[in-house]
Amino acid sequence: MTALSTQVCVAGAGPAGLVLAIALGRAGIDCTVVERRPRAYLEQQARAGFLEHRVVAYLREQGVAPGLDQGMSHARCEFRLPDRRFCLPYGELAGGFAHTVYPQHLLVADLIATLLAEGGKILFEYAITGVTGLDGDRPKVTCRADQGPPVDIACDLVAGCDGWRGVTRTAVPAGPRTVAVRYPFNWLTLLAEVPPDADQVVYALHDNGFAGQMPRTPKVSRFYLACPPESAVADWPDDRVWKELGERLSTGGAPAPRPGPILDKGMLAMRSAVTEPMQYGRLFLAGDSAHPLTPVGAKGMNLAIADAAHLAGAMTAYYRDGDESRLRGYSDSRLPLVWRAHEFSDRFLRMLHPAGSDYEDALGRSRWDQLERNSAAARVFAAEYVGSGPLIA
Ligand SMILES: Cc1cc2nc3c(=O)[nH]c(=O)nc-3n(C[C@H](O)[C@H](O)[C@H](O)COP(=O)(O)OP(=O)(O)OC[C@H]3O[C@@H](n4cnc5c(N)ncnc54)[C@H](O)[C@@H]3O)c2cc1C
Repeated sequence: MTALSTQVCVAGAGPAGLVLAIALGRAGIDCTVVERRPRAYLEQQARAGFLEHRVVAYLREQGVAPGLDQGMSHARCEFRLPDRRFCLPYGELAGGFAHTVYPQHLLVADLIATLLAEGGKILFEYAITGVTGLDGDRPKVTCRADQGPPVDIACDLVAGCDGWRGVTRTAVPAGPRTVAVRYPFNWLTLLAEVPPDADQVVYALHDNGFAGQMPRTPKVSRFYLACPPESAVADWPDDRVWKELGERLSTGGAPAPRPGPILDKGMLAMRSAVTEPMQYGRLFLAGDSAHPLTPVGAKGMNLAIADAAHLAGAMTAYYRDGDESRLRGYSDSRLPLVWRAHEFSDRFLRMLHPAGSDYEDALGRSRWDQLERNSAAARVFAAEYVGSGPLIA
């Protein structure tokens, strides 16, 4: 058994944990990050790509992600409905804002490099197995490397940034409750060496189900195909993928995407959840560990970084000024913004996946009409999509 000591133990080196650890280190707060994966894995695992302008402004201000300058700016999306296509210049509608498309694994690589260059500590390939003493003064995080002996890390505060499959959330004895939804379909997630279509996101509704095409880099696109909840990746050989993408994305008379090499294929169970409150004793949850959501609306990584920025300010006030009020108010400040993002993502998801009854299909058509023809409705949608209001309440 090895015993370590730190002020803040950060569980997980995803976007939330790394942003938090960098900010704490700069405030002179001793911090140890514990991550179960190897560094190389984190720097290669493709997931998100769309960053809100206010998150980009924060990352630039902190100077933590030099690669952001290579990111592509996106401010339009195209909707392909069975009977028509239309574009939404959401950036312009929202007052001149845009998303920056920068793949999550490149951002994570930038953040790891920044943290290590500034003397930060990350224990790679150490899996957290338990957290105890959250009600006392010195909680303990226990982790271990593969077959190695357990390592106990004594700390003042624990930041649970270990994603939905992490252990910090489950260490809470009682109190917080989790509410969740499982949608009745999966998404097949694909990365392909295919240049993005017309530099915009494409959302297509088809009788076979939803399909989407999102830019990632000038040469690589992410595609999504809605499929039944019992589907497995093995059900989707490449020729079936391209046939289905061709049919669904050419809806409304659009051209089908040109097939290219598929770099990554995954099956995503579409679910969202929120744990309330996002704190218990000396544990503070941030990002997907507290509120994972489907990729619809591109909110997950953005919320994770906003949580981390907020938590960094609250922990700094606690150590520097002895002011505990922001830490105590962390969950109450974050949850309204978390629920706004979940509400938008759920509403948008339901527009993209018609429920199938005649009544609900008619409601869906009415919502699309509103988005296309009612400029006030389009402006509200655009502001929610691109992200509006300050990053930290
Ligand atoms: C296909 C796809 C597309 C997406 N697109 C977007 C998008 O465009 N925009 C957007 O904002 N969001 C998007 N998201 C969501 C986004 O990827 C997540 O919301 C984001 O990764 C959350 O960051 P996080 O730091 O909270 O958690 P994570 O990134 O999950 O990081 C958690 C870390 O904790 C580590 N960990 C877990 N358990 C343990 C343990 N026991 N011990 C030690 N370490 C542990 C994990 O290895 C991981 O590195 C997408 C997600 C998917 C799957």
